[in-house]
Amino acid sequence: MAKCIFCGREEEPFRGIHLIKNDGSVNFFCSSKCRKNTLKLKRDKRRLKWTEAYRIALEKSRKAQKREEEKKTEKVNKEKEEIDKSEKKEKVEKIKVPKTRELKKG
Ligand SMILES: [Zn+2]
Repeated sequence: MAKCIFCGREEEPFRGIHLIKNDGSVNFFCSSKCRKNTLKLKRDKRRLKWTEAYRIALEKSRKAQKREEEKKTEKVNKEKEEIDKSEKKEKVEKIKVPKTRELKKG
């Protein structure tokens, strides 16, 4: 069973057109709508909401957005950790300083 080149729908019996190009490749169009959109109107299938390619492109863009958000949150978390570490170091130094002075006196 061939898939429609444009919308991604599977081939049904007694429907659609197989276009055989001179280089031997076979393209299947499920309807005249899909055929005209590719050959005559030359539309991008990723920009039309009723095609499978649009849904795939949408999922990809959503995944990319999620990754960017995760990266941003990771950066914020790292900055927070660094701030916490620096605060802890300051506290440790504050605690250490009087001890060393006491040792020198003794
Ligand atoms: Zn189609």
